[in-house]
Amino acid sequence: MNDRERLQRICDWAHDRGYYVELDPAPHEADEVDPVTKVIVLSSSQTPRQRVYAALHEAGHILGYEARDFLFSDAPHRITPRMSPRSRLAVVENELDAWRRGWRLAERLDLGLSARGFEKEAATWVMTYVRDAAGKKDLTET
Ligand SMILES: [Zn+2]
Repeated sequence: MNDRERLQRICDWAHDRGYYVELDPAPHEADEVDPVTKVIVLSSSQTPRQRVYAALHEAGHILGYEARDFLFSDAPHRITPRMSPRSRLAVVENELDAWRRGWRLAERLDLGLSARGFEKEAATWVMTYVRDAAGKKDLTET
């Protein structure tokens, strides 16, 4: 199976859940999923493999919304300077959870991906959140 076929399989999975996948958004648009409008946006400035990883991650968010078993039920999407430690951790946990669920989905869909490549990509993204969570001011605020 090649990456185009993998991406198609993930898109089919998302369509079955009522989601629309926007594959070629405007340049520099970030990957995201909106559970209200049910739209997944996948950035066009990525390699085919990165798109597969990103699609799995966004699908992982969908599975998180569906499962509703978050450690933090109200996880925000971005870390801002005035955010409390609890909210910062909620963002990190939510992102990690989406990567974890995305990997399980990759296995269920039988995409034939190596765990190592996926983990490397996941780690790169999660570390940006960890850095943001630890690095901005007002960390003592509650
Ligand atoms: Zn995410």
